[in-house]
Amino acid sequence: MLYDHIAVNGQGHLTISGYDAEALAAQYGTPLMVLDESVVRSRCRVYREAMAEALPAGSLPLYASKALSFKRIYQLAAQEGLGVDAVSAGELYTALKAGFPMDKVYFHGSNKTDFEISFAMEHGVGCFVCDSADELRAVEAEAARRGLRQRLLLRLTPGIDPHTHVKINTGRIDSKFGAAIETGQAEALLREALDCAHVEVLGYHCHIGSQIFDHAPFCDAAALMLDFAAAMERKHGYHAAVLNLGGGMAVPYVAADPRIDYAANIRKIGALVRETCGRLGIEPPAVLMEPGRSLVADACVTLYTVGAIKEIPGFKNYVSIDGGMTDNPRYTLYQSAYTVYLANRMNETAAGRYTVAGRCCESGDLIQEDVSLPRPRRGDLVAVLTTGAYNYAMASNYNRVPRPAIVMLGENGPYTAVRRESLDDLIANDL
Ligand SMILES: *Cc1c(COP(=O)(O)O)cnc(C)c1O
Repeated sequence: MLYDHIAVNGQGHLTISGYDAEALAAQYGTPLMVLDESVVRSRCRVYREAMAEALPAGSLPLYASKALSFKRIYQLAAQEGLGVDAVSAGELYTALKAGFPMDKVYFHGSNKTDFEISFAMEHGVGCFVCDSADELRAVEAEAARRGLRQRLLLRLTPGIDPHTHVKINTGRIDSKFGAAIETGQAEALLREALDCAHVEVLGYHCHIGSQIFDHAPFCDAAALMLDFAAAMERKHGYHAAVLNLGGGMAVPYVAADPRIDYAANIRKIGALVRETCGRLGIEPPAVLMEPGRSLVADACVTLYTVGAIKEIPGFKNYVSIDGGMTDNPRYTLYQSAYTVYLANRMNETAAGRYTVAGRCCESGDLIQEDVSLPRPRRGDLVAVLTTGAYNYAMASNYNRVPRPAIVMLGENGPYTAVRRESLDDLIANDL
């Protein structure tokens, strides 16, 4: 199977860490997101241990919580000793309500509002990741008003093209994120930040993109960032104690994708950082990383019930499910590949190719096209793997479809971490 925690039992049912998918669907209803705690925890440990071993003191993974944000996931991150990256007042508030230590929160976003800047400082967010000169001035003003000194990192664009999908490629000069090194804007931002009395610049940040399989783009980015750090040290006498390399390590979604050794990638980045700093004659900075997808994506399976089946002879077969782009818009957005099974009939041979369609009034509301499946019947169970990242986080109520529940597989068995939205939830804001 695609992952170790996915298997098939004696009844021919898909199992998730030993739990029968059909039994979970019967107990909790569908669509259902089943998130295995132990997969998340073990991936957190891989990052934390490899980074502690291979990178300078103070290095730490931060969970990029935009991938999947709800209270329980922040508690898991806290228990595993990670920091988090949050990008809005909503994510900050969720972390706060989960009891996450706010001094370990890094506040991101390319357009933080005045309210969000004030909200973050009020709750003691440890570090801002400053995206622009406009933001820097707003942070300086708010920190002055509050009589504090806000720690921050400067988000820079190193000009790397990691050859991932154009919509998730963020490190190029023409990106909407950060200040470009090549244009001199990064240096200008640093100089202005160093002149701010209510700002303490800890170092630099970059994030080159997402779903990147190879370690090389991260090493290239680190080398460019360290070159810049060394140049600024020579020119302005400023030593950056922190280098945040962002997130972006990939997860295999289908059998053809390469498997990733996260610890080996981290060791290669560690070797590159030590070697480059030695050559440049600078003290190696603590390295932060911001994995999102690679901490949660493969920990989750979404279960759907099959409804209508439509076979159009000579054209296409459709199998309709009781969810779709409202809980997983990634195929609609990026044509993302997914592994899809008929979860209650795993041992039956494929009868044809089926396009798995959602229930929304959009022809583009598909989860996957041309999937080999046994001939589906109304009431069957469809499982879509690898739905932990950027699924629930991007969910909507289009067509007034309620969001699914998230059930976690914990040490003591399954429990509901996010309840299913009700019809009354849908009209809760309507006056
Ligand atoms: C999206 C994002 C991440 C996480 O990316 P993944 O590909 O999910 O690991 C980390 N840092 C920043 C700044 C991001 O925008």
